[in-house]
Amino acid sequence: MSAINLLILDDKEENIISLSALLSDIGDINIISSTDPNEALKICWMNDISIALVDVQMPEINGFEFVALLKSNSRTSHIMAIMVTAMSKEDKYLIRGLESGAVDYLYKPLNPEITIAKVTSFIKQIHIQEEIIQKNIELEQSKKALIQANQEAEQARRSKEIFLANMSHEIRTPINGIMGIVHMLKSADLNPEQIDWINRLDNASSSLLLIINDILDISKIDSGMMRIEFEDFDLEAMILEFDKVFKLKANNKNLEFEVILDKTLPKYVKFDALRLQQIISNFISNSLKFTEKGKISLIVKNIDTNKDQHTISFAVKDTGIGIKPEALEKIFQAFEQGDDGITKKFGGTGLGLAIVKRLSELLEGNVSAKSTYGQGSEFSFVTTIQKVERNIHDKEKVRLEYTQLSQFNTLKVLVAEDNELNSFMLTHMLQTWNCKVKVVKNGLLALEEFKTNDYDLILMDTHMPIMSGFEAIREIRNHHDRNKQNIPIITISASVLEHEQQAAFEVGADEVIGKPFNPVDLYKKITKICALKNENNITF
Ligand code: ADP
Repeated sequence: MSAINLLILDDKEENIISLSALLSDIGDINIISSTDPNEALKICWMNDISIALVDVQMPEINGFEFVALLKSNSRTSHIMAIMVTAMSKEDKYLIRGLESGAVDYLYKPLNPEITIAKVTSFIKQIHIQEEIIQKNIELEQSKKALIQANQEAEQARRSKEIFLANMSHEIRTPINGIMGIVHMLKSADLNPEQIDWINRLDNASSSLLLIINDILDISKIDSGMMRIEFEDFDLEAMILEFDKVFKLKANNKNLEFEVILDKTLPKYVKFDALRLQQIISNFISNSLKFTEKGKISLIVKNIDTNKDQHTISFAVKDTGIGIKPEALEKIFQAFEQGDDGITKKFGGTGLGLAIVKRLSELLEGNVSAKSTYGQGSEFSFVTTIQKVERNIHDKEKVRLEYTQLSQFNTLKVLVAEDNELNSFMLTHMLQTWNCKVKVVKNGLLALEEFKTNDYDLILMDTHMPIMSGFEAIREIRNHHDRNKQNIPIITISASVLEHEQQAAFEVGADEVIGKPFNPVDLYKKITKICALKNENNITF
């Protein structure tokens, strides 16, 4: 610790000498002295003085005035002043000294022990203060470093978000094209062999989309961008739908598939239907993948009820290959698979259960797995779900192929899309519904076309060269002709990011459709925003 500078101010030299001698036993101090208050003030200004022992009775400036001067200046106000006086210990002097800013008094004749004890205690206090200042500096520095690290993390998160948006656009755009063409081919006149090829193509592209969605999902969750969306839905219908879809797949593998539904389950609930579906589908798909003979059961139980809150367990049990105990601990981690042989034999990315685990945390639920190697496994998800009353708008959904939908009464549609496969597919769909279609390859061309010709609807891709879809929409919404500026616009976004979809609404889109989309969804959106009659009884 550095030595402390101590000032002695006394108009009598002999007093200075005796006080200096007294204090000389205290280590770590430099004694500086003066008989002249004005010179002492200068010393305080020029040197880093920590303690001042000030004589009270001096000609010109007395000790009280001197201390008051020290305290009134920011450069010297920190100095601890101790008044040294031969005056009586009367309260009025004490108060005057303290009012002027002194911290203590020493009375003449000086008692050596008391003087040394007081000065030593103030030196200790100063050292503690110095330490506090040092700690505060360090704290301030680590605060700055933390802010910097936070900014860097935020920057990295933003870069990841941009990368995700681009990736999802780049990958989903061609898949959208492939799946759209598959859709179109399915309704063409094909021989049985060609139908088989198309079904294989359909399966392959659907699997590819699932993998891409998994990768995007895990990145979204890890960067905190996954949103949970609660909605009212029919839980029983969802579970029975699993029965329909997976029974067929199980039967194709000669496996039994059963659904066991607890009678006390609420029929209508408020929860994130999409994510619940994703978790259960993942369990069942895995069971299907890892089971060669026997049975797969989906068991849904109402474990506990508290008013309208139901604790429900969704368990999927199989008689498959099972999982070794050492692997069971790791399977909920990303990229982990039962053992290396699994990848070779069954394929897979090892992402499914990692997503399930993270989703279950977002949904405030719990996932667990039990397994006996060679005999079978059981995966379950337990969560609390709110029961709701039946939604009066809950009409029965009609499943239709896009070619079965009734035709529009000649709708003029401008399609702005730079990807040829997508624009070809969109044109085909729209023409099936009796639309007159004009395709352009970027936002600028769309804007020119919009200005020179009349259209009923614009389908606008978001990412395009030269001028993006967003810029074009902004220009359209600012057009001087009121009738033209209000043209219905649907943006086609390959982004999975909610904020990008939100941004589309903010620039003026009436609807957003994601890639790849179901043609029936596009039809629904067109019907809705162009205020057309819904002759197909499709629920919106
Ligand atoms: P993927 O199936 O894509 O490899 P998952 O995260 O869904 O990834 O599963 C991780 C691993 O857990 C699988 O590779 C497999 O070893 C094991 N596993 C998951 N479900 C089952 C099951 N029902 N039976 C046996 N093993 C399973």
